[in-house]
Amino acid sequence: MPILAANWKMYKTITEAEEWLRAVVGRPELKRAEVVVFPPLTALHALRGRSRGLGLGAQDVGWAAEGAFTGMVSAPQLRDAGCGYALVAHSERRRYAGEDDRMAARKIASLWQAGLIPVYCVGEDAAERAAGQGEARLRAQVDTALDGLGDELGGRLVIAYEPVWAIGSGTPATPDQAGEALSLIRERVEGRCGGAAAARLSLLYGGSTSPASARGFMEQPIIDGLLVGSASLDANSFLAMLEVMVHA
Ligand code: PEP
Repeated sequence: MPILAANWKMYKTITEAEEWLRAVVGRPELKRAEVVVFPPLTALHALRGRSRGLGLGAQDVGWAAEGAFTGMVSAPQLRDAGCGYALVAHSERRRYAGEDDRMAARKIASLWQAGLIPVYCVGEDAAERAAGQGEARLRAQVDTALDGLGDELGGRLVIAYEPVWAIGSGTPATPDQAGEALSLIRERVEGRCGGAAAARLSLLYGGSTSPASARGFMEQPIIDGLLVGSASLDANSFLAMLEVMVHA
C-alpha cells in the first residue's frame, strides 16, 4: 500500500484539525493507503479516537523515556496519546532546534523501544547540493542515525528524503532525483543492516509535492509514498493526492 503522510507543522487550531478530519474520515481510499497525520501536539488528543483509518504521529520526540527534560515529550507518552509514528530530525527541527544525526539515532532507538515507527527525515541543503556534496550528506545522515543501533533494524523504519531546497519552495525535486537519492539510502541501510532490513524499510519523498506532481513520484518503483507539508493542510488537496496515489 502507498504511504501518504501529512505534516501540518505549526498550523491548525483544534477546531480546524477536527474539520479536516471530518472531511477525510470515511473515504474509501483510506483502505488502500497507509495514511498518517502529524498534527500539532495540541490537536492530538482531539483527533484520537475519531481518526478511523488514519494513523497519528508527532512531529518530534524526546530521546529519553522520561525525566527532567522540560518541553520534551517522550515516545511512551506519545504512544499513550495515541501516536503510532513520529517524525525524527525534520529539516525545520535541524534548522531551528539544532537537531543533529546523533540525536536522531537516540530518538529512533527510543521510538522503537516504545513500539512506534520513526519517520527519519534526511536531505541535503542548497549549498551542499551546489558543492556536489549531496550524496555524502545523505550517507552521513543514514550512517550516523543507524550507528550503534545494532546490525538489525530494531523495528520498522520509514526514511523520508526531503531535500531542504525543495521543502516549502514550490519546486519539488524531479522524480528521478528523488529515486536516485532513495536508492542510495536503501543501499546504505541494507549494507549496514543486511538484507532482512529491506522488509522493514519504507521510503518516502517530501518537498513541495502537490496533486499534480504526486503521480510522477509514485511511478518510481523505489518510492513507497510521500510526506506532504503545505498541500496536506487543505483536506481537498490532500484527498486529491490520496486519489492519485491509490490509482498510481
Ligand atoms: C515537509 O515539511 O515535510 C514538507 C514536505 O513540506 P512541503 O510539502 O510544504 O514542502
